[in-house]
Amino acid sequence: PVVTRFAPSPTGYLHIGGARTALFNWYFAKKMGGQFKLRIEDTDKARSTDDATAAILKGMDWLGLHADGEIVYQSKNVDAHVAAANALLESGAAYRCYQTPEQVEDLKAQARENNRAFRSPCRERTDQPDLPFAVRFRVPEGVTTIKDHVQGEVTWQNDSFDDLVLLRADGTPTYMLAVVVDDRDMDVTHVIRGDDHLINAGRQTQLYQALGWDVPEWAHVPLIHGPDGKKLSKRHGALGVDAYANLGYLPSGLRNYLVKLGWSYGDTEIFLDDAELTQAFSLQGITASAARLDFDKMDYINAQHMTHMSDAALMEHALPFLETVNAGPIAPIVQDRILRGMPTLKPRSKTLIELADQARYLMDIRPLDISGKTAKPLKRDGVIELLSALTLALKSRKDAPWTAEALDTELKDFAEQRELGFGRIGQPVRAALTGGSPSPDLSVVLALLGPDETLGRLDDAIA
Ligand code: GLU
Repeated sequence: PVVTRFAPSPTGYLHIGGARTALFNWYFAKKMGGQFKLRIEDTDKARSTDDATAAILKGMDWLGLHADGEIVYQSKNVDAHVAAANALLESGAAYRCYQTPEQVEDLKAQARENNRAFRSPCRERTDQPDLPFAVRFRVPEGVTTIKDHVQGEVTWQNDSFDDLVLLRADGTPTYMLAVVVDDRDMDVTHVIRGDDHLINAGRQTQLYQALGWDVPEWAHVPLIHGPDGKKLSKRHGALGVDAYANLGYLPSGLRNYLVKLGWSYGDTEIFLDDAELTQAFSLQGITASAARLDFDKMDYINAQHMTHMSDAALMEHALPFLETVNAGPIAPIVQDRILRGMPTLKPRSKTLIELADQARYLMDIRPLDISGKTAKPLKRDGVIELLSALTLALKSRKDAPWTAEALDTELKDFAEQRELGFGRIGQPVRAALTGGSPSPDLSVVLALLGPDETLGRLDDAIA
């Protein structure tokens, strides 16, 4: 059975590129009826933090990426790493290297000067002095070839690879060894990761072969670049998944966008739900060139996910954003108003932030703050009288169906009877009811506010 894994180093937040890699692993596992596992690569104790691990887990949780089985912490598997290093020593595929770090540094500099890979003088040593030593891999002769699902066939001359340390003199394993041992322990069949690890696949293949283990299948995914085609950096804005959550993207929208980014699939159907993504996903579809972030496309896809989502579910996602606009909790009556307003809010917003902004007029607390340009239509001659008359007319039909259609007719009739253009009524009424916040058709505004709130706001404007 297929087993994939996501193996982040807990040194920061869940990066958007890492999230995409995780999604590829996730969809591939689901598509193949396999498992998706999570390994926290926390061997670098100096750089790894619990906060970072928590942030990664939180980001994955938000995206809906749940790992199968227990989370593996690389630092807990050191015994197995050491055992593998010893096995390699035993077979002669690795050797004890007694060079001090300073000596190694000099030798490496010399090797670079001569355009050669690093080989330690201890390579052919047979005695075992009582000195600290690192376990170093003996890079074999010849070439190493991998077949990669994204990059195709890649071949390296082995004499381009340094003899790498597998176990440091203090007994701690290096990344190169730990990854191979852990992937083997976790029964990983497919390694899908960033193409910055491509060359490591060559090195790790040599290790698998030296250990006599099956080499997993590889898929090295191009990194995400900024809209300008340059490597993604702070300059491009949001880097962590949490930043996208804060910008008001839905988890399902970001998933859809990230999976579609650099994965070609017919391109006609940009909106894909989870089942469709799972069904359609393939490693072969991943493009080998870097993908560029495109915020317009992200907005577009997110908007579609908002449209497809049920009003109640969208309400749940929107609530924190609504509370921000409202600067506090939203009263149940207002929540109900917003829920009924969802069909009008959805098509007018691409993110939850925009949606919350569109809902502002439904949250406003009387009396509304109406000032500046917005107040102008209310100051025109005869407007107060007009609003009074309208308020009276609306009060008298308060118990009739308070629907957008009925109110639309009501407003139009009111204007017609007075031989006024609709704008003469519409502008001041809109000012009185919304205080200038974004709003849909006036009759919709009245319908959503309901008779009491509508009449209350009109009364405030007249007073
Ligand atoms: N921990 C490595 C990283 O975060 C990934 C290693 C791997 O996927 O093999 O870049």
